[in-house]
Amino acid sequence: MNKRNLHKRSLAVHAGTRRSQYGEMAEAMFMTQGFAYDTAEQAQARFEKVGEDEFIYARYGNPTNRMFEDRIAALEGTEDAFATTSGMAAVNGALMAVCQQGSHVVAARALFGSNLYIFDVLRRFGVEVTLVDGTDLDQWRAAVREGTVAVFFESVSNPTLEVIDIAAVADIAHEVGALVMVDNVFATPVFSRAVEQGADVVIYSTTKHIDGAGRALGGVICGTRHFVREVAEPYLKHSGGAISPFNSWLMLTGLTTMDLRVRAMADSAEAIANDLRGHPKLSKLIYPGLPDHPQHDLAMSQMESGGTMIAMEIVGGRDAAFEVLNRLELILISNNLGDAKSIVTHPTTTTHQRLSEEDRLALGITSGLVRLSVGLEHPDDLIADLRQALE
Ligand SMILES: *Cc1c(COP(=O)(O)O)cnc(C)c1O
Repeated sequence: MNKRNLHKRSLAVHAGTRRSQYGEMAEAMFMTQGFAYDTAEQAQARFEKVGEDEFIYARYGNPTNRMFEDRIAALEGTEDAFATTSGMAAVNGALMAVCQQGSHVVAARALFGSNLYIFDVLRRFGVEVTLVDGTDLDQWRAAVREGTVAVFFESVSNPTLEVIDIAAVADIAHEVGALVMVDNVFATPVFSRAVEQGADVVIYSTTKHIDGAGRALGGVICGTRHFVREVAEPYLKHSGGAISPFNSWLMLTGLTTMDLRVRAMADSAEAIANDLRGHPKLSKLIYPGLPDHPQHDLAMSQMESGGTMIAMEIVGGRDAAFEVLNRLELILISNNLGDAKSIVTHPTTTTHQRLSEEDRLALGITSGLVRLSVGLEHPDDLIADLRQALE
């Protein structure tokens, strides 16, 4: 049996497992920052060249972290991965590792607020940043140029669920030799085929669907061995971006059930979207799995699913949206996503508060917009809760 051809569900249970001399079944948590050497010569040799299954310091690498990195790389179909303290450490690390003063990067404008902040930081250090409408391929074509080091986008944007054509943007970027970096949180590793579609670097906030229970922060950068170990790792290990072994251990167990969880959540999201579409209290319901979504065909060919997130615009703006949020009894008000517990967020006043009203409206973030992360409750209970809150 060729283990490389296993389905993702099987890889998520087994890939990357390393067992100690005790043959433990569960992945061991190596809660250690350092490693003892038999001799001074061995210490010197490890520092000169760390070999397979050899570690020197947890900021550089740790066996539990390595298990998680190998497992997610197997799922994503990349040669390697580096796990970070949070999703933002991964975004920051991937970009900082390739940019220097005078570099040019192109990014889609519809980005998570903290991602936008990173581009402001890059600008402060003399990086030229061009923001484009990610769904408009002509804007990508016009923006990239010989020497552009990277393009960056969320494959499904937060919170308005625009779907970006990974293969088409990758073709445009590769023509000028730019790296294609995809923040793939909303697509999840379950529905992602980003590498096959042309992505060079795939980034996750593992805080979301990978942990899946809202327990711990984490992030990961997936890519070629060269990118991960020669480009990203030097920056990450020296700037302190490595994940805690405890959080890696949580993520490892999170991965084993991710496929089942995320598919159930996406099925519920589809059921909710179908039930609530056309509801008189909603001026808009955005779900990539519905045929009226502007990139529905792309979403289905790229991910084969509409995903686990829904955006809805409540008639009556902020006050009406707050009233609906406050009336929900089962669905919680918070700002995480991908959790087993369903969560509603009002982006205008929370996650995207930092943006000017003009910028928010340009991204479609109106005062009535509510983001719903569909969890693992029974969909009928979620529909009943949403209906009673709306009505
Ligand atoms: C949450 C999120 C991040 C940041 O991840 P953290 O783990 O919170 O640092 C980045 N991108 C997207 C799309 C996200 O949803």
